[in-house]
Amino acid sequence: MVNLNGRVAIVTGGSRGIGAAIAKELAAHGVKVVINYSSNREAADTTVKEIEQVGGKAFAAQADVSDTVQARVLVEETITKYGKLDILINNAGITRDRTFRKITDEDWNKVIQVNLNSVYNMTTAALSHILESDAGRIINISSIIGQAGGFGQTNYSAAKAGMIGFTKSLALELAKTGTTVNAICPGFIDTEMVQAIPDEIRAQIVAKIPVRRFGLPEEIARGVIYLCQDGEYITGQQLNINGGLYM
Ligand code: NAP
Repeated sequence: MVNLNGRVAIVTGGSRGIGAAIAKELAAHGVKVVINYSSNREAADTTVKEIEQVGGKAFAAQADVSDTVQARVLVEETITKYGKLDILINNAGITRDRTFRKITDEDWNKVIQVNLNSVYNMTTAALSHILESDAGRIINISSIIGQAGGFGQTNYSAAKAGMIGFTKSLALELAKTGTTVNAICPGFIDTEMVQAIPDEIRAQIVAKIPVRRFGLPEEIARGVIYLCQDGEYITGQQLNINGGLYM
């Protein structure tokens, strides 16, 4: 079992929703956390404050991780501030849902850029530092939609499935190094992303979930802790946290 105390993590999109829950749970285990966000400074500051109030260490760092240069700067800031990097959580993501016949080039490109190319940008910038750790961890927050598809979500589904392929290939390449690479595939989790779905559709989704409720961000965060702490022999996997919706 890996002792997480004193380790350093970057959580992309760590200011709100699932990312904020992951950041808080890591901090509660003694990890120093870089809370990345793209535009909502207030949410990032709130998450940092919540962590500091209970004795944890964190700082907020603005960067659009879909941009190669900004991703690199984010990693450099982390090294300047905390001196090393053990854990990278590629969590930042957006949706631009539209049926394929109505999708625009912009909807397609933006979702691929933010959800998938960001994973490349961050991982390539961070890898040399992570490899210096005796227990490096790269965790990609994919989605059930990358496994099962989603109506009106060709762009999002392609990006999330791409993250799974990336995870498996990089896990193979790094297997001998002690750094593990895994994906977590959440089902429907109660964050602003899911709260934006119209009530009627939300009710239809809940009716299909075997456990009959949305998941909580904290339930994804506990999966992250499991992979970081107990996951020495777990690599290239998809951890499904979805209430039984996809098996
Ligand atoms: P959310 O509440 O909408 O939060 C998204 C986070 O990503 C925010 O912190 C946002 O920062 C950040 N972000 C967006 N674009 C960014 C960019 N270009 N650069 C840096 N940060 C960026 O989303 P969520 O529901 O917590 O989802 C988190 C991840 O889990 C996403 O990858 C999502 O696809 C995945 N997921 C979610 C669910 C679900 O049911 N909620 C299910 C499966 C998978 P700002 O506020 O500053 O924009």
